[in-house]
Amino acid sequence: MTTASPPVLSGDLDEIFEYCNSLRQAPVPADDQLPAGFVGTIGHFPVYFPEELAHSVGLLPMNILGGGNKLELKHADAHMGSFICSICRSTTEMGLNGSLSTLKGFVTHPICDAAKHLAGIWARNFPDQLGQILYTPQNPNSPGAARYVAAEFQRLRADMEKQAGVKSDDERLAASIRVYNENRRLLREMYRIRRDEPWKLSCTESYLLLRARTRIPCEEHNKLLELALAAIKARKASPQDKPRVVFVGGFCEQPPLEMLEAIDDNCYVVDDDLLVGLRWIVDDVPETGDPVWALAESFIERSDASPVQHDERKSKEQYLMDMVEKSKAEAVIVTAAKFCEPGLDEQVAWSKHLDHVHVPHLVLEFEEKMNSFEQMAMQLETFAESLLFTNA
Ligand code: SF4
Repeated sequence: MTTASPPVLSGDLDEIFEYCNSLRQAPVPADDQLPAGFVGTIGHFPVYFPEELAHSVGLLPMNILGGGNKLELKHADAHMGSFICSICRSTTEMGLNGSLSTLKGFVTHPICDAAKHLAGIWARNFPDQLGQILYTPQNPNSPGAARYVAAEFQRLRADMEKQAGVKSDDERLAASIRVYNENRRLLREMYRIRRDEPWKLSCTESYLLLRARTRIPCEEHNKLLELALAAIKARKASPQDKPRVVFVGGFCEQPPLEMLEAIDDNCYVVDDDLLVGLRWIVDDVPETGDPVWALAESFIERSDASPVQHDERKSKEQYLMDMVEKSKAEAVIVTAAKFCEPGLDEQVAWSKHLDHVHVPHLVLEFEEKMNSFEQMAMQLETFAESLLFTNA
């Protein structure tokens, strides 16, 4: 059996971002191509998945984020309506065209009807894979919520153990939690740089760095982040005349890279919700005691917010305003993926609230399959100029 070793990177940022971009387009590796210590891969759909559970049984978690704007749909349309969002359709296409055949399983979540039905399509078409829905609680405010999540995590852990043929124990899981806690610390630092010195790290670059975790083990991602953060801190870059904005709407289907680049050309994105599931737990998970309970309790008590979680303690308006205030943003780019019901619902509530509190905002819709960005670039330029003119 051959195992893949990561490339030796020198610390040059261009080289690091190029490597991250190659990972973005990389296929799911076959079992004999996996890094040492892993026996297989498990796919998971956005938003949140407790990767530590998979990591501790030797399954490399692969966040499956659709096919981007290069994939041609040939089979998926026979399985779902044309009104379903792109990420669901292109993920199905990748399953049907064999791109995901090496996965040992695929886990999705009841975040919306489309994602819920994806699990059924998976189970019917790929019976050899573990096709699962991880049921997160509808009401995270109930006193039994953490206990319920812990039971769900335990069920998933047992199924993954069976599929991997590897028995996990609390010691192994605690070790995985430590690796991911380090990752959380590094990602917090990356977002701190975005807030404090946005000229040193663009939204596109930070996104590529974050997204690299969807294809490599967390330990390797930690080393990559350490190398990149040292180089970013030492970067010689001066502030430019650009408005500070928050970007929202990237929690599930991913905007094309060209769209993020167009935003970077005109604004400093000082906070965002891109791939929020990979950094869902915002603080360290306790490293002592029952590790499953620690993860479940952190899911409820130390977690971020998104349009697919309905927690009374995090109103949609308030969590956006918290992002704006914490990052000292002067405006918001409010996006939603085409046909994304939760995203479009939130977009209406956010726009209304931002009007009410007089925070300038630009509403945009995207689709992973988009390939023309001229009009959007013009809208962004006009928006940025209007902000600079108002503040002059
Ligand atoms: S993009 Fe929106 S509609 Fe599509 S799966 Fe994600 S949350 Fe559901």
